Amino acid sequence: MAKKQDSCSFCGRVRTDTQLLIAGIDAYICNHCVGQANSILLEESSSKMDGGKIPDFKLMKPIEIKIFLDQYVIGQDEAKRTLAVAVYNHYKRINQPASRDDVEIEKSNMILVGETGTGKTLLARTIARMLHVPFAIADATVLTEAGYVGEDVESILTRLLQAADYNVKAAERGIVFIDEIDKIARKSDNPSITRDVSGEGVQQAMLKLLEGTIVNVPPQGGRKHPDQKMIQVNTKDILFIAGGAFDGIERIIAARTRTNVVGYGSEKKLLIDKDMLLQYISPADLKKFGLIPEIVGRLPIITFLHPLTPEILKRILTDPKNALVKQFIKLFSMDGIKLKIDDDVLDLVVQKSTEFKLGARGLRSILEAILTDDMFELPSNEKVKELHITSDYAEEKFQKSGVSKLKIA
Ligand code: ADP
Repeated sequence: MAKKQDSCSFCGRVRTDTQLLIAGIDAYICNHCVGQANSILLEESSSKMDGGKIPDFKLMKPIEIKIFLDQYVIGQDEAKRTLAVAVYNHYKRINQPASRDDVEIEKSNMILVGETGTGKTLLARTIARMLHVPFAIADATVLTEAGYVGEDVESILTRLLQAADYNVKAAERGIVFIDEIDKIARKSDNPSITRDVSGEGVQQAMLKLLEGTIVNVPPQGGRKHPDQKMIQVNTKDILFIAGGAFDGIERIIAARTRTNVVGYGSEKKLLIDKDMLLQYISPADLKKFGLIPEIVGRLPIITFLHPLTPEILKRILTDPKNALVKQFIKLFSMDGIKLKIDDDVLDLVVQKSTEFKLGARGLRSILEAILTDDMFELPSNEKVKELHITSDYAEEKFQKSGVSKLKIA
C-alpha cells in the first residue's frame, strides 16, 4: 500500500501545518499527535498515583539474600546477615495476609554504624536492586525541622516517589537510606543541659516517618506551600535504613563495657580497637551519642561495618560483579584493546588510596589517574591491541597526575 503522502496518518494535518512529520513504514505521525500521545501516557502513569500496581515481588530467603549481596559488597558479613534477616522479616510482614490473631509483626527499620566509605550505602542500594523496589537516599544533614532553612523531612519521600515514577503503591514498599544520621545527634545526651534545635528538631520531625504514618508529600519537593497539590504516602511499609560513622562511639562502648567487667582488675582491660568494640554496639550507646530514645526505638536493628583493610580494598578492585578492574577491561576492549593489569599494580592502588586516606572511594580516582593518558590516546591508535600495566608504569603515571598532588602534608 502506498503511503498517504505528506500528511499525518492520525490527524490528517498536511506537512506544512506541522513542525515535524515523522515517517513510519506505512504511516506518518506529526508533532501534535506525538505530544498528545505523550500526555495520554503521562495521564496513565499519574493515575497510578491513587491506586497503582504493586510490582511482582519474589522474596528470597536470608541465605539467598546474603549470596546476592556477596556479589556486590565485599566482606561485612555481620552487616549482611543482619540486613538479610531484617529485609526478609520486613517483607514477610508486608506480605502477610490480614491476620486473625493479635500478633502484629513490627517494622524492621535498621541502623548501620561504620566509617564513611565502608559500604553502607552500597548495601542498602544493593538490597533495593535485588528486590526491585524503589530506593532513595536522603542526607540527614540537609534536613531541618519545618520553618528553618533547608529541606523538610517530607522531601525524603519526594525522592522515593520520583524513584517510583510516582507509583504511590510501589513507593510505599520502597527503601529509604538516611545517610549521616549521626550528624543530627544532639550535642549532649542530657536534654536539660543543651537544647540543640537543629539536631533534636530534625530527629523529632523524622519520628513520624519512621513509625509509619500518612504523610502529605510535595510531588516536586521543595518547601511546602498552601496551594500545592500533595500526594499522600503511607510510610507504614517503607523500610528505613539509617547510616552513620558515629565518630568516637567506641569510647562510649568502651566505657559501658568496662563497667560491665568491674571486678576483673585493670590488668584485664584489653586494648581493644575500634573495630572490635563496634561489634558490641547497643541502643544505649546510640542514645549516649545523642540520638533521642524515640529514634533509637524506631531503628531497632543495629549492625556495624568494619573499616576496610588493604586486603578488602584489593578485593573490591577485582571481585564484585561490576568491579572497577572489570569495568576498565571492558572499556578498553570496546576499542579492541586487551588490558592487562599486574597484581602489584593493584597493591599500589590500594596503598595510594590508604596513604591519601581516600578509602574505597579513592580506588577509582587512582586507577583513572593511571589510565587516563592511554584512554585518551589509544582509541586513535589502531596499531595497539594490548596494554600491559606494570607497577613502574603505574607509579610514573600516578606521579604525573593531579591526584598525586592531593596529599595533605
Ligand atoms: P558509605 O555509605 O559507608 O559511606 P559507600 O557505600 O557509599 O560508603 O561506599 C563508597 C564506595 O566504595 C562504593 O561506591 C563502593 O564502590 C565502594 N565500597 C565501599 N565498601 C565496599 C565493599 N565492602 N565492597 C565493595 N565496594 C565497596
